[in-house]
Amino acid sequence: MGSAKILAALVARPASLTPSAPVTGDKLTTADVAGALAGIKKAHELLLRYKYLDDYSGEHEIISQLVEQLSFPSTKKISDKVIYKLIQVSLVDYAKPCLCPMCKGRGEVVNRQGKIIQCPKCNGMRLKSRSKSALSRAIGIPRETFRRNWWEVYEKIADQLSIWESEALKKLKQNCN
Ligand SMILES: [Zn+2]
Repeated sequence: MGSAKILAALVARPASLTPSAPVTGDKLTTADVAGALAGIKKAHELLLRYKYLDDYSGEHEIISQLVEQLSFPSTKKISDKVIYKLIQVSLVDYAKPCLCPMCKGRGEVVNRQGKIIQCPKCNGMRLKSRSKSALSRAIGIPRETFRRNWWEVYEKIADQLSIWESEALKKLKQNCN
């Protein structure tokens, strides 16, 4: 069973995973899915669901786990509400990055001479992260405060999510082999 298939099955309505559903072809069973997820931490699984399956129901739990794992500097006066929002924004940006508005995610644009060139806005990366102003607005703190105190934390959250994701995908692949 390929890991992509397992991921797809995770989004299936619970009804299709019930043992009483007629088994046709290589339809996944509850046991298949349970096997694929064996050993994957709950928060990591929720992240996969969030990113790949547009299942946002685990958002709160993902955020709570991140609050626990990342130690927030107590010297920086900031409310729990802002921390929550900061993680929420970082999670969205990590899992659902915006396509570059200039090349519409193609990574290339046609210049004035009609030549196809690498998109200068995203440097061919296809994605464009939000500006610090947009981020601070989304979090609800002044831009300067964000830049000075929270930009690093914002990036640290993305790093943490990246670690979670690669751990989970590695495990999923192992389980599916
Ligand atoms: Zn671009």
